[in-house]
Amino acid sequence: MYKIISGKDVSQAVKCRVADEIKALKDEGIEACLAVILVGDDPASRVYVNNKKKACEFCGIRSLEYVLPAETKQEELIELIEKLNADKSVNGILCQLPLPKHLDEKAVLNLIKPEKDVDAFHPENVGHIMIGDFNFLPCTPAGIMEMLRYENISLDGKNCVVIGRSNIVGKPMAMLMLKENATVTICHSRTQNLKEIVSGADVIVAAVGRPNFVTADMVKDGAVIIDVGINRMEDGKLCGDVDFEACKEKASYITPVPGGVGPMTIATLMQNTVTATKIQNSKE
Ligand code: NDP
Repeated sequence: MYKIISGKDVSQAVKCRVADEIKALKDEGIEACLAVILVGDDPASRVYVNNKKKACEFCGIRSLEYVLPAETKQEELIELIEKLNADKSVNGILCQLPLPKHLDEKAVLNLIKPEKDVDAFHPENVGHIMIGDFNFLPCTPAGIMEMLRYENISLDGKNCVVIGRSNIVGKPMAMLMLKENATVTICHSRTQNLKEIVSGADVIVAAVGRPNFVTADMVKDGAVIIDVGINRMEDGKLCGDVDFEACKEKASYITPVPGGVGPMTIATLMQNTVTATKIQNSKE
């Protein structure tokens, strides 16, 4: 019998914890502030930014939104980030990805001060994750770890397979699982015998970006299945990377899409904003 891990429930618990921390900071006269930059009018990015704003409101975090036109020049974006870096009242800076193609994403991310880098994309923060000594964790992988902890799912000695090796999900996910003493395999588009590898997994994390990529014949009985994928179907519905209906019958735990990993990503962003605020006010 499988259990659905509800990202809605777990993220709510995280946001309530964050709201308490924010309240305690306010009692000391400290206000947390997150600046979100959106360049262009990508509808999916707009939805994510709105959701982040709502979460800030719930937690009591002041949110600043900078919506720039798609044709914004690199120098203009740099100027804004430098201004926010220097502004002591801004604790976290997030630049919504993807950026329009003419902008240098890497240069932009590297410019955000590491102590305000609440997405944990700056190379300095990535390095801290590699050595297991960090302030901020990348939001999606950290949100997944929170879900596993919430359900008391231990990774110690488990075979974990992460499908996908992106810098924002796959690679940091593998590092966090390794830190919890899992044996981790990372699969990608050049992996040979993917089905064989995945079918040996106690825990599967699918971050591919292909609807129904993980099928029931790849899943071992009792596996924990975490579906990171967000794919918009022709009928407008969202679908994950896992064939949920078929795979759930073999799983012990499984996350749905929507209502799974997505809300956790935002909850972790709120957590990272509190951490940034505490660090900048020497509270941590
Ligand atoms: P990327 O496109 O950056 O990475 C996809 C990965 O999947 C790559 O490593 C790629 O391999 C691998 N891949 C592609 N095709 C195959 C294949 N046939 N077999 C095995 N591996 C394959 O995506 P992201 O990591 O940014 O995101 C992945 C998914 O998660 C997307 O649907 C995205 O929308 C979603 N997402 C959801 C979030 C949430 O909050 N729920 C947050 C972030 C992302 P290779 O490197 O070889 O090309």
